[in-house]
Amino acid sequence: DGKGGSNQWCFFNEDMTQAARERIALESRLRNAVAQGHLQLFYQPQIDIATGGLIGCEALVRWFDPVDGMISPARFIPVAESTGLIGPLGEWVLGEACRQAQAWSSQGLPDISIAVNLSLHQFLLTDIVGCTRQALARSGLPAGRLELEITESALAARPDEALTVLRGLKDLGLRLAIDDFGTGYSSLAHLKRFPIDLLKIDQSFIRDIPQSADDMAISHAVIAMGKSMGMEVLAEGVETAAQLEFLRQHGCHFYQGYFCSRPLPVGEFTVLLEGEAQR
Ligand code: C2E
Ligand code: CA
Ligand code: CA
Ligand code: CA
Repeated sequence: DGKGGSNQWCFFNEDMTQAARERIALESRLRNAVAQGHLQLFYQPQIDIATGGLIGCEALVRWFDPVDGMISPARFIPVAESTGLIGPLGEWVLGEACRQAQAWSSQGLPDISIAVNLSLHQFLLTDIVGCTRQALARSGLPAGRLELEITESALAARPDEALTVLRGLKDLGLRLAIDDFGTGYSSLAHLKRFPIDLLKIDQSFIRDIPQSADDMAISHAVIAMGKSMGMEVLAEGVETAAQLEFLRQHGCHFYQGYFCSRPLPVGEFTVLLEGEAQR
C-alpha cells in the first residue's frame, strides 16, 4: 500500500543521505591530501616477455592518510571523478610521473617508458592535451617515453569525442594504450579508427589461465587481433609461471603482474632499475 511504499522511500533516502555524507567527507579530505602532498605514486614493472627485460612501468596513485593509512585508488578515484577533484589530482599524477621518469634518466638509469592512467572525466572534461603538453615541457621527458592509458569503457562511452582527444594527444608524440581491454564493449569499427599503440588485456581474462579454456581462447584472440591491427599487446595481472608461458607461446609482447612484482614505492623501484642497469 501507499504507506509501505513511502516508508521504503524514506529508508532509501536516509541511505542515500548517509552515502552522500560519507562522500562529502571523503571529498574534503581528498582535497586536503592533494594540497598537503599525501599522495604518492607507486610503480609496477612492465616486462618484455621475449627478453625478460624491464621496458617500462605503470604509475599507480596511493593516498596515505595520517589517520586511516593507505586508501585504495579504487575508492577515491570515483569520488575525485564525480566532484571535479580529478582535475588537480590528475594533473599532479601526470606531472609527478613525468618528473620521476626523467629523474631516473638523469641519474644514469635506463630510459624506461612510464604509463599514466586517465579517467573518463579527466579525459573528456579537462584540458588533457594542454595539461600533458605542460607536464612534458616542465619535466623534459621525451614524449615517446610517456604512455597514456584510457579504459576501453571510457572510449566506448563517447567514441567520437574520444577520437578527437586521442588525436590531440597522439600529436604530442606520446603512446596511447587501451586499459582493461575486453571489458568495455567497444565496437571493432571504432577501435580501428583510434590511434592506439598498445592493448592491455584485462586481468580478469588472465586470472584463470590455464584452467579456463574460454579465457585462453579470448586472450589468444585478443593477442592475434592486436597484432593484426599493428598494435602491441600487454597482459595484466600475471601471477604464475604457467600464465606467462601461455602468453609467451602466443606471442604476447609484454606483461605486468605479481609474478614479476607488485607496484613498488619509488625507492624500491629505483633499486630494481639499478639492477637492470647491471644486466
Ligand atoms: P588498473 O589501471 O587496471 O591498474 C591495475 C591494478 O591491478 C592495480 O591496482 C594493480 O596494483 C593491480 N595489479 C597489478 N598486478 C596484479 C596482479 O598480478 N594481480 C592482481 N590481483 N592485481 C594486480 P590499484 O593500484 O589498486 O589501482 C586500481 C585502479 O585504480 C587502477 O586499475 C586504475 O583504474 C585506478 N588508478 C590507479 N592509479 C590511478 C591514477 O593515477 N589515475 C587514475 N585516473 N586512475 C588510477
Ligand atoms: Ca591501468
Ligand atoms: Ca587495467
Ligand atoms: Ca582496472
